[in-house]
Amino acid sequence: MEELVEVHPEKCTVCLSCQLACSFRNYGFFSLSKSMIKVSRLGTKVSIEFLAGCKGCLECVKWCLYGALKPKKGLPK
Ligand code: SF4
Ligand code: SF4
Repeated sequence: MEELVEVHPEKCTVCLSCQLACSFRNYGFFSLSKSMIKVSRLGTKVSIEFLAGCKGCLECVKWCLYGALKPKKGLPK
């Protein structure tokens, strides 16, 4: 996903909107565990990982309101 998305973990609030958006887009329901993007916080450090199975649809990016996920080439329509 590095070719499609700029990731800025320092801006992430761990709101988990991206995880919910991913599951809804791909399964039709909200489930943090079904998401193909995984956000976690350990102490003050946030990590954002794209998991195997990610389709590159960028739905997660659309719903990140904090600038932690940014499209490199614009969002798909
Ligand atoms: S790009 Fe699409 S499939 Fe991949 S994590 Fe984001 S919403 Fe999920
Ligand atoms: S939507 Fe953005 S700010 Fe919220 S958890 Fe995901 S990456 Fe972090």
